[in-house]
Amino acid sequence: MSNALNEARRELALANRIVANEGVIDAFGHVSMRHPENPNRYLLSRSRAPELVTPDDFIEYDLDSQAVRTPEHTQYSERVIHGEIYKARPEVMAVCHHHAPAFMPLLATGIDYVPVFHLGAVGGIRPPFWDQQDEFGDTNMLVVKPEEGASLARALGKNWLVLMKRHGVTVAGTSVRDCVFRSVFSCRNADFQVRAMALGKVDPLSPGETELASVISSKTTGLVRAWEYWSMRVAKAGGLPASSSKAVRRPAKVKARAKKAKRR
Ligand SMILES: [Zn+2]
Repeated sequence: MSNALNEARRELALANRIVANEGVIDAFGHVSMRHPENPNRYLLSRSRAPELVTPDDFIEYDLDSQAVRTPEHTQYSERVIHGEIYKARPEVMAVCHHHAPAFMPLLATGIDYVPVFHLGAVGGIRPPFWDQQDEFGDTNMLVVKPEEGASLARALGKNWLVLMKRHGVTVAGTSVRDCVFRSVFSCRNADFQVRAMALGKVDPLSPGETELASVISSKTTGLVRAWEYWSMRVAKAGGLPASSSKAVRRPAKVKARAKKAKRR
């Protein structure tokens, strides 16, 4: 495995642990990334709670969400969410699907998400809703069929968030870090919005403010600063992922040579 791929796997494992640590994801939900060396593939963990994901847990999928090699472990059932978005949006490099408590009041009522503070702008103005019932009738609510994933990707359109009625949210990003940034701060915004609505009329950001504030993560050092902060919080909780056991190691011959040189 190349060092770039190995590093990407570690970053993705950390991303899964960050969104868990920040209350976006619990036992369910997942973060994936487009394969750094092959845009027609993506990496998603085997089926396990994101807080436990390690760099060795990732399964490589094609964009039809078929595993490239027969997986040794159980797979997430909702992986078509990821594959169909990567298929529809070539610029999307990471996807997070979650059922965060902060969003549930909006998802249960169909009330639009609106940015109520500057960082909430990363979710956009009134991101679209998708209701599985509209196209597929009664289901178990999980997005498991390719046509269900494709329908969700169509609803996402050019947005970064799609709100799934009575289910959860799917977030797209231009990188793993961008996707985590949008996931965490849209959850904070949803939480503030619902609490503000209980107090009175909400006064959201104007379209112009939303547009200007939404580039904070890409045009300033905000993304780096937030990633460092969230990583430190995971470290303090003792949850940093180890490097992959498949990391590139020095071949035995090189090691033996080094040993010999030391003895000289
Ligand atoms: Zn789900």
